[in-house]
Amino acid sequence: MSTASPRPWTLLVHGGAGILTRDTVSAETDAAARAGLDAALSAGGAVLSGGGSALDAVEAAVRVLEDDPTFNSGRGAVLTFDGAIELDAAIMDGRDRNAGAVAGVTRSRHPVTLARAVMEHSPHVLLAGTGADTFATEQGVEQVDPDWFMTPERRAQLDAMKADPDNWFDVDMKYGTVGAVAVDGGGHVAAATSTGGVTAKRWGRVGDSPLIGAGTYADDRACAMSATGSGEFFIRVGVGHEIAARIRFTGETLQEAADTVLTETKALGGTGGVIVVGPHGDAAWSLTTPGMYRGRVSQDGERRVAIYGEEG
Ligand code: ASP
Repeated sequence: MSTASPRPWTLLVHGGAGILTRDTVSAETDAAARAGLDAALSAGGAVLSGGGSALDAVEAAVRVLEDDPTFNSGRGAVLTFDGAIELDAAIMDGRDRNAGAVAGVTRSRHPVTLARAVMEHSPHVLLAGTGADTFATEQGVEQVDPDWFMTPERRAQLDAMKADPDNWFDVDMKYGTVGAVAVDGGGHVAAATSTGGVTAKRWGRVGDSPLIGAGTYADDRACAMSATGSGEFFIRVGVGHEIAARIRFTGETLQEAADTVLTETKALGGTGGVIVVGPHGDAAWSLTTPGMYRGRVSQDGERRVAIYGEEG
């Protein structure tokens, strides 16, 4: 790996958006989330500062968040209606728009790494369900017992939702999906997203996170982006591709494009947030919820994490 980067690198991470305010987030969760985001910035930032690729950086950052039970991905993922674990993830390389994704996998400790295996070791983009679990085993992707993912907090959330059947879908609006976007020293961008989806999901429900062009997208000509929010609306809008297309065709900045598309999504009824980075090191985040767990680090020394909307 080279020691000097010809272009400044930047990494952004998120850990989900939702009704996150100083009244709804406990001091413990606030501290745990900030520590988790910071650890993800360290992992991905170490890749980039060592001359590594954006693709390696976003995978490294998301793997840290997948192991952190604070967030809704990997360990600590939300439970389905039947009390099971079904994980979705995607990764995309902006150099050639190669992509890999998985939906409804049950045993991969790091779904983002399985998504990368789909991209690099299969002719496909998206694998789902038992077939994806089989592919994971064949590829030697680390497998764990489903119990490894489950936490008492997620069990309690499911029980509370099921106790109030009139109001059980996304009642808390604390989404918790994780994601990362990066631009490396070569000016290449990449994106990754990983999630347990939404609490009490059933019927094989899949959200936007593993869908290329919806919750995850990367194109060196425009940007890399990862989303969190009410997935059904993000799918309908094609949020990721829409932001990239606006940047390419309208000349909008990343911030303008992200804000516009999230406003349009909100007009349909869907809220959430996105992180976006461009090939020249420009970066933005945008949210239509009161908060989003988020962080950014760049070669110029900027480093910060934030949760609440007013943190800027
Ligand atoms: N967007 C995710 C989904 O719909 C949920 C989240 O962001 O936490 O599956």
